Amino acid sequence: MAMKIAFIGLGNMGGGMAANLAKAGHEVRAFDLSEAALAAAKEKGCEAFTSASEACKGVDAVVSMLPNGGIVKAVYTGDVIGHAPEGAVLIDCSTIDVSTAREVAEAAAAAGYPMVDAPVSGGIAAADAGTLTFMVGGSDEGFKRAEEVLKHMGKAVIHAGDAGNGQAAKICNNMLLAVQMIGTAEAFAMAQKLGLDPQTFYDISSVSSGQCWSMTSYCPVPGVGPTSPSDNDYQGGFATGLMLKDLKLAMEAAETAGMNTRIGAKAKELYEAFDADGNGARDFSAIITEYD
Ligand code: NAD
Repeated sequence: MAMKIAFIGLGNMGGGMAANLAKAGHEVRAFDLSEAALAAAKEKGCEAFTSASEACKGVDAVVSMLPNGGIVKAVYTGDVIGHAPEGAVLIDCSTIDVSTAREVAEAAAAAGYPMVDAPVSGGIAAADAGTLTFMVGGSDEGFKRAEEVLKHMGKAVIHAGDAGNGQAAKICNNMLLAVQMIGTAEAFAMAQKLGLDPQTFYDISSVSSGQCWSMTSYCPVPGVGPTSPSDNDYQGGFATGLMLKDLKLAMEAAETAGMNTRIGAKAKELYEAFDADGNGARDFSAIITEYD
């Protein structure tokens, strides 16, 4: 059944996601502060609005893909709650801190809206192709209704538990990814120092107990394993700056939870230094060049 959906935040990720909802036959009411982003969404079948509150009028669902928690909170409390019809399902797909996700979901629930946090795994290519993975935090009802929207933009929609749990899953996953990538880079660098050819080390380790996604799907060594950003001078892929953003969110959440993330904190420190050296736009696997 075709739905009326407001989409707020049409940047690198949101642009492709909104286009996929329009392609699936839904009426997409789009808003972004950037006129260029709004014009691009219009070209891809969305209707452009001059404010988020206008875009929210009469909708069945609201989807957002915004830069950070402060903006998400401002948009939902200022322009969505009280402007979208009561009962519309609210779906924030941005990566933000767990506490803000829970706070905004609570404000939404108090005003009669089921709200879920639904951050994604997958980058711009997956957003364009409609193959994202969504990890969703919220009530059973919120999840069921959000799933009907999210399924048009992704290959998997997984219920992670109550509000905020989608964000919790996302930052724990990305903290693990950062640790795994640094470990993979260090192992390849050391193998080479000890005289091993990187391809030979890959052939051994990829079928041994050191095997992991950072090695067999995203090898940081150029020319080894399937094609990845390392084969394109570390362009494209998942930017170091975005990995650092997620690690900072993970450390914030750890502090709130009273958790001592010994390795996660080290990974954040290493990515912080790498980012500060002017590597923010390079793919996060480029951290292997620190061992050169
Ligand atoms: P982006 O900067 O390209 O897009 C954000 C968009 O939000 C911009 O177009 C901006 O103009 C708009 N915006 C900002 N404030 C606004 C407001 N008040 N009202 C309406 N629009 C507003 O960022 P992105 O890469 O699309 O990332 C969006 C979110 O997705 C972030 O939370 C990011 O962490 C997460 N994410 C990104 C990737 C990735 O590979 N880019 C992957 C996974 C998750």
